[in-house]
Amino acid sequence: MTLSVAAVLAESALRRPEHPAIVSGTRRITYRELWEGARRYAAVLRARGIGPDDKVALLLPNTPHFPLAYFGVLALGAVAVPVHALLRAEEIAYVLRDSGAAALICAAPLLAEGGKAAETAATPLLTVMEEAEGGAPARRLDVLAARSTPIDRQVPRDPGDIALVLYTSGTTGRPKGAQLTHLNVVMNVDTTMLSPFDFTADDVLLGCLPLFHTFGQICGMNTCFRAGATLVLMPRFDGPGALELMVREGCTLFMGVPTMYTALLEAARADPRRPALDRAFSGGAALPVAVLDAFQEAFGCPVLEGYGLTEASPVVAYNQKAWPLKPGTVGRPIWGVEVEIARAEVSDRIELLPAGETGEVVFRGHNVMAGYLNRPEATAEAVVDGWFRSGDLGVMDDEGYLSIVDRKKDVVLRGGYNVYPREVEDVLAHHPAIAQVAVIGLPHPVHGEEVCAVVRARPGTTPGPALGAQIVAWCRERMAPYKYPRQVEFVDAFPLGASGKVLKRELVALLSAADR
Ligand code: ATP
Repeated sequence: MTLSVAAVLAESALRRPEHPAIVSGTRRITYRELWEGARRYAAVLRARGIGPDDKVALLLPNTPHFPLAYFGVLALGAVAVPVHALLRAEEIAYVLRDSGAAALICAAPLLAEGGKAAETAATPLLTVMEEAEGGAPARRLDVLAARSTPIDRQVPRDPGDIALVLYTSGTTGRPKGAQLTHLNVVMNVDTTMLSPFDFTADDVLLGCLPLFHTFGQICGMNTCFRAGATLVLMPRFDGPGALELMVREGCTLFMGVPTMYTALLEAARADPRRPALDRAFSGGAALPVAVLDAFQEAFGCPVLEGYGLTEASPVVAYNQKAWPLKPGTVGRPIWGVEVEIARAEVSDRIELLPAGETGEVVFRGHNVMAGYLNRPEATAEAVVDGWFRSGDLGVMDDEGYLSIVDRKKDVVLRGGYNVYPREVEDVLAHHPAIAQVAVIGLPHPVHGEEVCAVVRARPGTTPGPALGAQIVAWCRERMAPYKYPRQVEFVDAFPLGASGKVLKRELVALLSAADR
């Protein structure tokens, strides 16, 4: 079997044809059905002129259409370009133009934005629908696929060919499309499937991370399919719903970003039922140790935290069951990837620092992307002498465990001192009145920036100036004078990115505007 991302599904369809690959609502789709369905989607796309190296954009939520379209595109040797489902028409049009997409496959509920974008970018549009959504629009890929004969076999690819273009969320300027090769993706999937994830064919994973994002797509869906395990799709995450679904479907694994852990813990306070989880994986943002401890206690399984990013296909380092667990660290580098700490201020070369010193996390190996699409300067800035500069600050201990200190761009500079929000958040997470917290820097006339804790209070407490003052006093006892937050703001909910991470830049914009 050729080394390709499509083979991840094709091979499991040979090995475990009748095993459920996907559970979606009341539907169970076996590996044989999924691969055959994907090859039907491929037949429709081929009839519309799509072939090797063409880009096809996917604007799809977590329903079976996602893997059907994704593997259909890949089976043709074409390149899948999954698009964040929350983007507005103009942002989608940017991705369509930048990637030169030959088609957009869009789910019916996202047509308002997707349709407009396709028109603006003059990109041919195909739609897919759930049965419940009714109607019979033209260009229904799913309907055409049901009438088509599946393509025989996947188009062979070279390992270095591009499989995916994944757009970063673009905190600075326009989003950049990270090009991942078949080798990047397959190596990351194979390596992480064995360890740290230890997926077995009988595992059942809750698929609540969005499939268009690298974490849900490569670590969740692809690793699950490579193992021949079952993915339980959840289109929209909420704590009580996730708990219910995991109990009902007998999930053995959970994989999520820290905000999902917090929501599940809240749900578990009201609902005594527990799935028989064997292990849980966190990534995408820092998991406060207090949340990790509470989850391990409430769900009775180890929580393994790791670190990755879109450009790293995505996993760089992870804790794993076989090693002593070090909460607060993201474990050791995965097999085949070297991780080092480099002097952050030096940008034109890599100057490595010894263990114990804080600097920029850099890595090289099979996981480094093939470059940003159409952005040679951005690629040259990010990849120096084969090392990828992550933009994250970290420190490595003498046992090789990596800790992420913070994002370079999130560090708060207060009166000449660097304050690392993550460290402050870790302390605040222990406060009994705090359900969730994000620490940011706000402009300050004297100190340059002031440390501000944005808090969602626990039910039963009274958010307001009195609680705010109490939190500040509590912090003053536990932190050095330059770093404890002087300002506490309360919110009912945090602005979340498509992958469920707190959008700190939006909090800063919101609170800076409120200050004026
Ligand atoms: P962008 O990088 O464009 O702002 P993004 O957050 O969507 O967007 P991703 O590739 O999804 O980009 O996220 C990668 C980033 O997430 C890392 O560079 C790092 O800052 C953060 N991250 C991932 N895992 C962890 C972790 N365990 N602890 C702390 N931060 C993490």
